[in-house]
Amino acid sequence: MSFSPIFPGAVDVSGQPATLGVMGGGQLGRMFVHAAQRLGYFTAVLDPDPQSPAGRVSHHHIQTAYNNDKGLQQLASLCAAVTTEFENVPADALQALAVSRPVAPGAAAVAIAQNRIEEKAHFTASAGVAGVTCAPYAVIETPAQLMAVPAELLPGILKTARMGYDGKGQVRVADMAELAVAWADLKGVACVLEKLLPLKAECSVIVARGWDGTVTGFAPQRNVHVGGILAVTAAYEGNMPSALAQRARTATKLIANHIGYVGVLCVEFFVIDDGSADGALVVNEMAPRPHNSGHYTMDACDVSQFDLQVHAMAGLPLPAPRQHSPAIMLNLLGDVWFDAAGEPRTPDWQAVLALPGTHLHLYGKLEARPGRKMGHLNITGADIASVKAVARQVANILSLPGLDALE
Ligand code: ADP
Ligand code: MG
Repeated sequence: MSFSPIFPGAVDVSGQPATLGVMGGGQLGRMFVHAAQRLGYFTAVLDPDPQSPAGRVSHHHIQTAYNNDKGLQQLASLCAAVTTEFENVPADALQALAVSRPVAPGAAAVAIAQNRIEEKAHFTASAGVAGVTCAPYAVIETPAQLMAVPAELLPGILKTARMGYDGKGQVRVADMAELAVAWADLKGVACVLEKLLPLKAECSVIVARGWDGTVTGFAPQRNVHVGGILAVTAAYEGNMPSALAQRARTATKLIANHIGYVGVLCVEFFVIDDGSADGALVVNEMAPRPHNSGHYTMDACDVSQFDLQVHAMAGLPLPAPRQHSPAIMLNLLGDVWFDAAGEPRTPDWQAVLALPGTHLHLYGKLEARPGRKMGHLNITGADIASVKAVARQVANILSLPGLDALE
């Protein structure tokens, strides 16, 4: 598709500065806004929450529902192009915007990522090209489908088709009886049952694809989840077997190509124990946006995932990013703001920031709640050993989980 680049700093005949818009005002939107502004763009955020992390730092903050016609019109009139920062933006809203403005990623790609049933159907359809399949699964939308679940899918994980994130909307089930109870507890909404796989590790790959089909991206990150939420990302040479890393990278690029994706795409993979030394790759899910596992790129790479998001939507070149430092990212959940007795505390930033190569990113959320993503810490250094050593110290100071799983 030919696309005239939207250059930063441009001012149109009516005096309007080149402005980029984002649907959603969470932390991913905030980091997008920062990246766009650094390049010289003005920004607009659509999010109903007056205190949204991105709304607070944007030139414009439209505070309406995502499907509000007036809000969408206002966004379209302000912005030269629009992106999204979370997958649950109504696909209709993206379609409405796309009538008058370039929208990246497009509604069709976001719709696939919004629904696990469609997502898995897509992974299955692209498996021949991409060379990886997803976990064995069954769709459960009716009692008959529930009864017909094959025994080999148990034990498994029942996941709601829509609105699941950070392990929410997921129940582990050992047998048919537990499955029936779990589905009833989920009010019989559309679900997928996935076989519980023996995970050796988890990883993800972030790519950016432009309007002209150019693809660039980062090396795979290794991820550690605790309680269904990302806790640690390790990004350095040798974080996973190189043959698997190459396969994951290729698969992600092919998945992006297969849907004609424009923007930043993250694909999550499992490495499962199949008896081989490296293990086998299984595709888990995709996010039509920058991803928590790519936050290390802000401090460890010359171009971050948010820079690439800006470049892709605006039709700027997509140079290959270069990682200049090994890195570990530690997520900071609201739990860090409470001591062992459950009393509120201020995390010991003094001690953390005294350590070399620590980069603190807080999202401007005023209320800490357990499990709420409040920020992250990137740790960079000259070599992997020193990055790991500092990460361990930080984890001790803040009582952060997950690092042991890297060993
Ligand atoms: P979310 O949308 O919440 O990120 P995921 O499907 O990625 O949902 O699941 C969250 C985490 O739960 C995964 O990162 C993994 O640790 C674990 N998990 C999910 N599916 C499976 C599975 N089929 N087998 C084993 N572990 C799984
Ligand atoms: Mg996930």
